[in-house]
Amino acid sequence: MKKKLRLILGDQLNINHSWFSDSANDYIYLMMEIKDETNYVRHHIQKILAIFSAMRSFSDTLKVKNFNTIYIKIDDKKNEHSFKKNILRIAKENNIDSIEYQQPDEFRLDELFTKLQSSLNVEVKSVSSEHFLTSRNYVKEFFKDKKQWRMEEFYRHMRKEYSILLEGEKPIGGKWNYDADNRKRWNGDPKISKDFRPSHNCEKLLNTIKDEGIDYFGADSAENFRWPISRQESLKLLDDFIKNDLCHFGSFQDAMDDEKWRLFHSFISFSLNTKMLNPLEVIIKAQEAYHLKKLPLSSVEGFIRQILGWREYIRGVYWSQMPGYEKNNFFNHDRNMPKWYWTGETKLRCLSKSISQSLDNSYAHHIQRLMVVGNFSLLAGIDPKYIHQWYLGIYIDAFEWVELPNTLGMSQYADGGLLATKPYVSSAAYINKMSNYCSKCTYNYKEKIGDNACPFNSLYWNFFDRHRDKLSKNPRLGIVNSQLKKMDEIQKKAINKKANEYLDNIDFI
Ligand SMILES: Cc1cc2nc3c(=O)[nH]c(=O)nc-3n(C[C@H](O)[C@H](O)[C@H](O)COP(=O)(O)OP(=O)(O)OC[C@H]3O[C@@H](n4cnc5c(N)ncnc54)[C@H](O)[C@@H]3O)c2cc1C
Ligand code: SF4
Repeated sequence: MKKKLRLILGDQLNINHSWFSDSANDYIYLMMEIKDETNYVRHHIQKILAIFSAMRSFSDTLKVKNFNTIYIKIDDKKNEHSFKKNILRIAKENNIDSIEYQQPDEFRLDELFTKLQSSLNVEVKSVSSEHFLTSRNYVKEFFKDKKQWRMEEFYRHMRKEYSILLEGEKPIGGKWNYDADNRKRWNGDPKISKDFRPSHNCEKLLNTIKDEGIDYFGADSAENFRWPISRQESLKLLDDFIKNDLCHFGSFQDAMDDEKWRLFHSFISFSLNTKMLNPLEVIIKAQEAYHLKKLPLSSVEGFIRQILGWREYIRGVYWSQMPGYEKNNFFNHDRNMPKWYWTGETKLRCLSKSISQSLDNSYAHHIQRLMVVGNFSLLAGIDPKYIHQWYLGIYIDAFEWVELPNTLGMSQYADGGLLATKPYVSSAAYINKMSNYCSKCTYNYKEKIGDNACPFNSLYWNFFDRHRDKLSKNPRLGIVNSQLKKMDEIQKKAINKKANEYLDNIDFI
């Protein structure tokens, strides 16, 4: 009997997909661990372990439910480490007459599978992944003819479209956005709850990855691995977050702490991006908690905005700009990444803490990514291509469709302002306001040019001075530009000199 093949990618672990509504036995479900995917960028070991472990767990679930499943492991002798070659072999061995795949989220894979359609002599068809709340082109259509794509406009539209936190047509509480209430520093109060931390023994898989010669970086010990690898664990993580942390999420969303670095963040991005969780179910659960548990509106709105607004918007930006978005470099930055991005060994305490934490845990929260690592990278003029590759490799949730617009667009302003109305940069004052990093730092956050002056301060002014031609007309930078204009020439010279000293010695600061 002729069979049909259905391909499941490592970030398509959605057991509620309509493919699995009945176990018709003329379908074979194919999953594979391949080096083409582990090696296209250098990855954090926890990301490889988490994806393979979650895939294996998903395949076990399918088998328990009697789906006919073929799973090619990374060390299988017949594994050819390429989607195309493995598919061709399985198709031949199993008398396959048609192939289906869920639309991939990355342009790279979308192109690969589109080409596959023309190179095979069986029918190849794509179906929706049934995960996102908008189609690939929705955001592009929404902003048709608009020069600037303001997330807020899109977000309000989505709130109405999905009837989220509404009273009739109006937002509950009278305001659409409580961002202004979400900027508190955390000084130890409220206490941080004990978070749900699934434990998995990945030792065998780790050894296999080593034996296969896959290049990786980051902490690989069992104590460091804390990621959910099944829908059940993902749901438990989400429920615990809603029960214990969501109430404080809003106020401390932008806060940073050198020890309690999780603060009140959810850790659900890996589960969402691998589709073990669905965005709408997360939003509905948070909305229910607002109504039933009377959680603060500013927290619930802030959390929902990230998923209903930012996540969908970012995906839309990605699909509207690909291919080619990854080549953007508005400021023509060309500096190499300092070596300490791979070790965390720098005297800049905010960076040392954020990078070491990322190397240990494959995680940093939004403001650490944006206002510490991203901020420094932009001020220092590092080539955005390297920064993109670093973010894509290091973070547990990094898949190109969400990582690239966040890194290149939001954080590095490399698209010249499609996504962000101004570059997200700051001096040390912001980092000191939002964290406890500065108090124990070698550098002095108040100084611009002294021996121990914080590098962020001189680099900040040097950045705006360097890029006057590109930024002096930006209406959102009025204050900075007028301060720069009024700045005493001798002081400006001294600041630029200090900045250049730091840049010349960037590997050793
Ligand atoms: C430079 C940079 C790179 C980033 N790269 C990624 C990435 O590769 N993958 C990724 O999922 N997120 C990325 N983000 C967004 C954000 O930092 C992470 O989603 C978040 O830190 C994940 O942790 P969490 O689940 O604890 O999130 P929480 O802070 O608890 O937020 C809840 C959820 O909101 C969503 N969300 C929040 N902000 C964004 C955003 N800007 N874009 C899309 N979704 C968002 C995520 O799904 C997240 O799980 C990046 C942000 C920056 C500034
Ligand atoms: S003083 Fe400067 S380098 Fe040190 S932690 Fe603060 S912002 Fe970072």
